Amino acid sequence: MLKIERLSAGYGKVEVLHGITIAVPKGKVVTLIGSNGAGKTTTMRAVSGMIPTTAGDITLNGKRIAGLESYRIAKLGLAHSPEGRRVFATMTVHDNLLLGAFPRMTRARPRGNVASDLERAMELFPRLKERRSQLAGTLSGGEQQMLAMARATMLNPEVILLDEPSMGLAPILVDEVFKIIARLKHEGVTMLLVEQFAAAALEVADYGYVLENGRIAVEGPAQKLRNDPAVKAAYLGGVH
Ligand code: ATP
Repeated sequence: MLKIERLSAGYGKVEVLHGITIAVPKGKVVTLIGSNGAGKTTTMRAVSGMIPTTAGDITLNGKRIAGLESYRIAKLGLAHSPEGRRVFATMTVHDNLLLGAFPRMTRARPRGNVASDLERAMELFPRLKERRSQLAGTLSGGEQQMLAMARATMLNPEVILLDEPSMGLAPILVDEVFKIIARLKHEGVTMLLVEQFAAAALEVADYGYVLENGRIAVEGPAQKLRNDPAVKAAYLGGVH
């Protein structure tokens, strides 16, 4: 379980998150929605150690991870599929996926069967299977986004942070990504999901939080948020 408690973080002297509290229980999908600039990506970065936290606490299965370096947080089982095309451009799809398993090569976590997990990732993302020998930098933007997501699954993680997995994807691939998220959920993978398609995110999620200007404005079971008139008007395409 991932617990974010009264977390504050930002960039330099600018505080973006002002004491947010989010719980991601084991086996659940939790979504964080909000307008552009609300601080969703900043939350993901603070949790995975990409930026420092200035107050509050973050724990993964009871272990404090706030303030640890990113590679230590990954070793403890937290995978981050970042926004944008953060793949190793000069390496093949196959090697990018293998790198996702690298933090497992430690005594701290069960190493498992990397070869079979690689096959599973390819099966989950058939587009990547077809392109396994291609250099990641030559994939389309959408394919790179999928590779970042597939690489996160290679950690065999306790929790996956998925930041805008549908970004830059054609509509048909957006559907595919949501199907993959649903399948991972069915397999018991714990996820914190940030998505521009808030309605679809609330469909797949168990619970949701709405972030406004670095503060949690509303939270509740996903189904309840889907039917909340204020949430509908502001984030779900204004359907009344
Ligand atoms: P979006 O939906 O547009 O991705 P978001 O909710 O993910 O938005 P963040 O990317 O977390 O928002 O940005 C929150 C605030 O932090 C914004 O005001 C943004 O300008 C600022 N910010 C983001 N990254 C940096 C950075 N590297 N340096 C300084 N300020 C930043």
